[in-house]
Amino acid sequence: MRIKLATPIVEMDGDEMTRIIWAMIKDKLIHPFIDLKLEYFDLGIKHRDDTDDAVTIEAAEAIKTHGVGVKCATITPNAARVKEYGLKKQWKSPNGTIRSILDGTVFRKPIILGNIPPAVRTWQEPIHIGRHAYGDIYKCVEEVIDGPATAELVITPESGEPRRVMIQDFKGGGVVMGMHNTEKSIRSFASSCINYALSEKIDIWFATKDTISKKYHGFFRDVFAEEVEKRKADIADAGISYRYMLIDDAVAQVMKSRGGMLWACTNYVGDVMSDMGASGFGSLGLMTSVLVSPDGKFEFEAAHGTVMRHYYEHLKGNPTSTNSVASIFAWTGAIAKRGEMDGVSGAVEFARRLEETVIKTIEGGVMTKDLMLIADPKVGKYALTEEFIDAVAANMRHV
Ligand code: NAP
Ligand code: MG
Repeated sequence: MRIKLATPIVEMDGDEMTRIIWAMIKDKLIHPFIDLKLEYFDLGIKHRDDTDDAVTIEAAEAIKTHGVGVKCATITPNAARVKEYGLKKQWKSPNGTIRSILDGTVFRKPIILGNIPPAVRTWQEPIHIGRHAYGDIYKCVEEVIDGPATAELVITPESGEPRRVMIQDFKGGGVVMGMHNTEKSIRSFASSCINYALSEKIDIWFATKDTISKKYHGFFRDVFAEEVEKRKADIADAGISYRYMLIDDAVAQVMKSRGGMLWACTNYVGDVMSDMGASGFGSLGLMTSVLVSPDGKFEFEAAHGTVMRHYYEHLKGNPTSTNSVASIFAWTGAIAKRGEMDGVSGAVEFARRLEETVIKTIEGGVMTKDLMLIADPKVGKYALTEEFIDAVAANMRHV
């Protein structure tokens, strides 16, 4: 008897190589073992174009309704993609659209394998990174100053007198930038971080440069601390802790840590550090990602893109060796979360068993090319895309 999950999981299909992997995962690793109710949205680029991107908004609304989604990687079109697929326009990033509808924060977590050593020897547990994805330099305004000039910050309140702050009295050329963040967004970020840490049962680290930026970074520190204070009881019950540091201290501590914490990062730090984490732990194919909203909705995906280069090889009829692990873990993440929310322990057990089986398959020497290149001990050959998934499916049947 297959385990049954009666509440829908929102499924979002995607593009290129990951779309091909997606179908294989469902056919070979999911449907044979578990009876899911899926609410399907085709976020493939053609269908987004056909619906004027309405499908992306519908999918995000469905996640709001049902609480759990799983998403395949999708193309964010640039000018070349508009031409390639004959699109009406350069549609926005679906991840950006979904994130702003759910007001969520993205958390990245690497999958740790015994035979894929991390670049940093002490890292034994995943370092989870949560990136605040609103504002700061990503929503800045900036100007190049090409001669003597004064630059001022002017704040005009809805009522009352404007306030002016001198930024710099330029004697010659230079450059100036104005950036902002909002209390609401910082609160949502902190709240999503706490939800995530409680869900994963891991400590929270947060760091800024508040010694230099006493007001801007100090504001982040204070708002985060207030949100932690509100959830003090939950945090204590879960046996986890909150630690605030200076950003340079956090970077130094991370390099010496054994991992196993959530590192809550401001926007720019998260952008930079998530790439460090991804390469430090091995392959992009081992990096999972989950969007968590402040009100506790979860959307799971792989952190990598559609692996376009492999897809073009596939279209030419050449064999590919694309790593499906992060996409499989997106599915197990969603199934486990659905099971947890609905109190269906069999679904949680199935998800954990599939994850264990993937790990054992790789530790047993069957892996895609990206992993073969970094495995220790070395393996003699790599598995093709479908061979790897077949090996996992066979191992699922053996236990
Ligand atoms: P990518 O899909 O992440 O792939 C970049 C390179 O990383 C690949 O060519 C491959 O290296 C390696 N790689 C990534 N995932 C892998 C996997 N699962 N197995 C093996 N190797 C893997 O990035 P891209 O090719 O620059 O972007 C393609 C499309 O993805 C773009 O249209 C972009 O908009 C989209 N994208 C979507 C998301 C998302 O939906 N979350 C995220 C990022 C990008 P080798 O070529 O050396 O084998
Ligand atoms: Mg980056």
